[in-house]
Amino acid sequence: VSAYAPPVQKLIAELGKLPGIGGRTAQRLAFHLLRASEEDAVALADAIREVKERIGLCEVCFNLADGPRCRICEDERRDFSLVCVVEEPGDVIPIERTHEYRGRYHVLGGALSPIDGIDPDDLKIAELFARIEGGEVREVVLATNPTTTGEATALHIADGLRERTPQVAVTRLASGLPVGADLEYADELTLGRAFTGRRAV
Ligand SMILES: [Zn+2]
Repeated sequence: VSAYAPPVQKLIAELGKLPGIGGRTAQRLAFHLLRASEEDAVALADAIREVKERIGLCEVCFNLADGPRCRICEDERRDFSLVCVVEEPGDVIPIERTHEYRGRYHVLGGALSPIDGIDPDDLKIAELFARIEGGEVREVVLATNPTTTGEATALHIADGLRERTPQVAVTRLASGLPVGADLEYADELTLGRAFTGRRAV
């Protein structure tokens, strides 16, 4: 890498910080950008700058939002009494695509993973408890990923809710989702079925 001019080295280093991008891929992407038109390369840089400037987290559910609240929390037609708990903002999209769910969301910002140093305080769990204690919700659907960390997170939340708000039903998506996979990659039909077949935990 040191054979390249410093600006090229810097680009490769920045691209290499992206998830799933190793050194070789970072290099290939950097060369692609060097070959791309000025217009395309600048459009990419502007898009990155714009999301960082304009997109924040919804004050209610912590989904991505371009104002204080996300579009789902602003939508009066959504069912206030249902809250679906997911790990990442990217998990909201596949659930929306199933058209099986008309409630709102709560985005945790990850999953519990003591090995990686991710504790309840690192996620929006206290915010979830406060939100549910606040009233009007009758069911919380735990839609964390069917992975070890996702299951541990669901259990932790279910315990916490049972203690604080025993009147609120807590459900988990039905099995049938590929174990160990991310919700993000589940197909619509399977995810839709997992929603309709959700069960109490
Ligand atoms: Zn929201």
